Amino acid sequence: MAPPEIHPNTVAVPSGRAGRFAPSPTGPLHVGNLRTALLAWLFARSAGARFLVRVEDLDRSRVRPGIEEAQLADLRAIGLDWDGPVVRQSERMALYEEAIGRLDAEGLLYPCYCSRKEIRAAASAPHGIPAADRYPGTCRELTQTERTEREAAGRWPALRVRAEGSWVSFKDRLMGCQEGDTDDFVVRRNDGAPAYQLAVVVDDADQGIGDVVRGADLVDSTPRQVLLCRMLGLPIPRYAHVPLVLGPDGQRLAKRHGAVTLEARSAHGEGPGGLLAWMARSLGLAEPGEKPGIEDLLARFDPDRLPRGPTVWDPGT
Ligand code: GLU
Repeated sequence: MAPPEIHPNTVAVPSGRAGRFAPSPTGPLHVGNLRTALLAWLFARSAGARFLVRVEDLDRSRVRPGIEEAQLADLRAIGLDWDGPVVRQSERMALYEEAIGRLDAEGLLYPCYCSRKEIRAAASAPHGIPAADRYPGTCRELTQTERTEREAAGRWPALRVRAEGSWVSFKDRLMGCQEGDTDDFVVRRNDGAPAYQLAVVVDDADQGIGDVVRGADLVDSTPRQVLLCRMLGLPIPRYAHVPLVLGPDGQRLAKRHGAVTLEARSAHGEGPGGLLAWMARSLGLAEPGEKPGIEDLLARFDPDRLPRGPTVWDPGT
């Protein structure tokens, strides 16, 4: 049975392109995720745009029960609202399959039988140029006989796109001009699930997302997504990859850094307002000691004045 629909404090829906926050329900949102959500909301609302929440729950092995509800409750607790019902990727399989079918019909996909281990081994071969996370193209030119042999041996293929090193550049609103080449990345995993790169592009286009605002850790995915937009004839959104919150050790924020979620902060006696104030200060939107409301932040928000580098999580400041 589908989980119950959660209707947040819906606001009137202005026309125009939308913004979005797209959490994966694999663990509680930490202050870095919440700050990204806040920024996505501020970008959209300050432009008078709709703001949507999309639950990216395609990786069933990593989805944890109850996390979606907890994430949505945390977003509401810091004052965010969104338009319309929450959309879940697991309920949109037909859309992704349609896009995969179109790419396949154009001859842009091929089956790949490699295991992760084989890809790692090939990528670290002494003469191989590819970086460790880059697909070296092993299955690109397999013959039908070779494919049949692999399938007869019980291997089920993933589908990869023939990107063949396509060079992509795009302008990021915060990080400036970005460019990169793309390897032959997966669009359908070997367990049949559409890959993140494919689903995100299909959804952003289908939902009319004009501005993708997300963490800077995803900037390396963007050339692949821009390429997929082009291959599928979809509009390319504007991108703003926002700075991350790091742990005191300079690493990406995580549970081991202590009380980094709203629930954990509450156990320390700090409510959502306190965390919102920390986020606002870290973004230059509030003074020390001040506890602004979400509407104050909206009134003060100016994308051009956002910090460009990461912030170290330090709840004492
Ligand atoms: N679901 C992704 C995440 O939680 C975000 C995807 C996106 O914003 O494009 O990291």
